[in-house]
Amino acid sequence: MKTIPGGLRGSYPVPTTDPVSGATISLLVESSDGSTQILLDAGTGTKNLLPRLRPGALLALTHFHLDHLLGLPLLAPCGLSGILSARPDAASILSRVYSPPVWPVPATTAPFALATPGTPHVHGALTVAFHPVAHPDGCHAIRIDEPATGESLVLATDIEWALMSPADRAAFADFARGACDLWFDCHFLPSELPAHRGWGHSSWRDAIDAARLSRARRVHPLHFSPACTPARAASIARRFRTGR
Ligand SMILES: [Zn+2]
Ligand SMILES: [Zn+2]
Repeated sequence: MKTIPGGLRGSYPVPTTDPVSGATISLLVESSDGSTQILLDAGTGTKNLLPRLRPGALLALTHFHLDHLLGLPLLAPCGLSGILSARPDAASILSRVYSPPVWPVPATTAPFALATPGTPHVHGALTVAFHPVAHPDGCHAIRIDEPATGESLVLATDIEWALMSPADRAAFADFARGACDLWFDCHFLPSELPAHRGWGHSSWRDAIDAARLSRARRVHPLHFSPACTPARAASIARRFRTGR
């Protein structure tokens, strides 16, 4: 299984020399044989993934905040097989956002499918599962497994680890158990979190804690704050290597 990040920034895009680090959240997951593609969220990073996207890809949405949706209109000509979300009102939310006078045309004609947390959805060679996490207006972590290879990935963006009870954290750890790759919200520094309680985000320290609890093999940061400089991102990567 392959993961190609298209955007790793949170909240809004920022100009950077590296287009992936400046664009908002979108990751493309491909099965090992290349037959199946799943796009995770449709932030502005979607643009960086367009050359690789093929008809039949599935879009799975963690939630409906705009930084995860701004690239959706770019997908109109891509022949998505569907849009998978854990909200039964996904279609009406998207048509509310993408309608005049906010946007002149519907953003998508792809069919919607409802994900039920606890029941994996099969898409070609991959399975997709959802798990609710603490975030304003609600959000779901998404797990993708490739049964043929045993490989797995968990995307936990827009999650406030500090607001999750021990039982919530244990449930998340069960969901993410043994993931080969855990992509985790690192929007804030630990020192910034107390002033941003309830904002729905975490820090690199939370990411390491969640990875340990889940026994994830590798952890990757994402949803960098717009204020995050390349130096700060590099220092987070260093902490992930040393585990503190
Ligand atoms: Zn976000
Ligand atoms: Zn959000």
